Amino acid sequence: MSLNFSSNFNKWTRDLLHVLYPQTCLICKYEYNQSKLAICPICSSELAYTNYEDYPEETNLDKLFWGRVNLEGTYALLRFKQEGSTQKILHELKYRSNPEVGIHFGKEIGSKLKNMTKFSDVDALIPVPLHPKKEFIRGYNQAEVICKGIAESSGKTLRKDLLKRISFTESQTKKGKTSRWENMQNRFKIQGIKSTGLKHLLVVDDVVTTGSTLETCVRILREEFPEAKISIAVLAVAE
Ligand SMILES: [Zn+2]
Repeated sequence: MSLNFSSNFNKWTRDLLHVLYPQTCLICKYEYNQSKLAICPICSSELAYTNYEDYPEETNLDKLFWGRVNLEGTYALLRFKQEGSTQKILHELKYRSNPEVGIHFGKEIGSKLKNMTKFSDVDALIPVPLHPKKEFIRGYNQAEVICKGIAESSGKTLRKDLLKRISFTESQTKKGKTSRWENMQNRFKIQGIKSTGLKHLLVVDDVVTTGSTLETCVRILREEFPEAKISIAVLAVAE
């Protein structure tokens, strides 16, 4: 009952904002106008920020990778909740051909990282690669779009040439779910220069749930860059 009331209230407020200030929100597509804000006040109020930048202790995201890979630092901007604005953002990014939303939140991540000393020497932003076929269909890699936003606000360099996904072969796609999962390890490979003198690599993805994709990327990068620090940053963490 109270949920219904609150969602009706939100809808009513959105309608009112739409009439008063016509400009399009990146998430809900309602029109509103609050100077140059890209997200309407309703969607903004529904976002669950992690505030990891204010945490001196280990976060749940740090703990997710304990005993798996050695990371210099981890960062997530938002907490992923079903039915919340964060889910809408990820949906917009993945299925609605809305890269602007990735750039917008990438910029927010970049501004946060700029103020965190453990990320100050990051010299390469590495997007988790998407299968080329998927990228062709979607028109972009959502992790790369987020990286572009981070690069824009932090001044750090995007390096999409360091990791690439190996194509699926016919035999792989014919296998069952389990063996395809087991094949995860073989779906990535390093492309490009082995020794570039990079000191701190930041691997970027849209969302982390089990962490297995990021773990795979970090392991492969670790082989190619044994001396470098490696960190991860994501738009959202499922908690
Ligand atoms: Zn909105």
